[in-house]
Amino acid sequence: MINKYNTNFFPDNIKDFSIKVLILIIYIIVIIKNINKITIESKNILFVPFVIILGYYIGDFFSGIYHYFMDTYDIYYIKELHKNFRIHHDNPLSLERFPFIASVVEIMPVGIVQGLLTLHFFKNYPLVILGSVITNLVMCSAQVAHRFAHRRTHEYDKNGNKQYYIPSFIKFLQDKNIILNNKEHRKHHLTEVMNYSISNGSTSSILDTVIDKFNLPVSTYKNSDNIHKRRNIIEKYDIINKFLQN
Ligand SMILES: [Zn+2]
Ligand SMILES: [Zn+2]
Repeated sequence: MINKYNTNFFPDNIKDFSIKVLILIIYIIVIIKNINKITIESKNILFVPFVIILGYYIGDFFSGIYHYFMDTYDIYYIKELHKNFRIHHDNPLSLERFPFIASVVEIMPVGIVQGLLTLHFFKNYPLVILGSVITNLVMCSAQVAHRFAHRRTHEYDKNGNKQYYIPSFIKFLQDKNIILNNKEHRKHHLTEVMNYSISNGSTSSILDTVIDKFNLPVSTYKNSDNIHKRRNIIEKYDIINKFLQN
């Protein structure tokens, strides 16, 4: 059965289509330009796996910071994005309202800036460029991984009809926590105050610890009658205990 949401990859609106495709093309060009600068000397070859793993974690951490910021702060420049994140807490399938490419390119403007800065400041440091490229790709894959996590949770509708086709390699990656696991992400939707990282979720607990250490605010929306409400650390853990009891 075809689901009731937007199943297009590209938007119908020509202006929207052009902007999204343009962002995608610029992003690919910037990433290729970065990759072209990566020439690893044999003495540094042992650092390569370490740098790749580090990029995998840092990219996820950045996805968590992005999500935390969008969930928590209602400031002028990100008002529209903030609203979409709030709507997402109300309706976890809200990402499906948009064509798939919207999720693919959503974070790419940030990735383009990162790629250009890396080329400018680190052009003579191939290991740094490698780490930055991996970070960039992992960070920018966040909304796609996030969308697939929700598709997995809602693979079947209430009547047991298949709503979404999820390739088996995506399910494998989710089950092995290599990309965002839907059960871990569900904890964010239940509580709204934890597990912000959405690329692969491996750094969620680190970000939660940073938020606690610096006493940064978290906020609820769905769990506070659809009113944006800041929560302090005591309230945060009351909420977690309440919603994750079982
Ligand atoms: Zn959220
Ligand atoms: Zn979500």
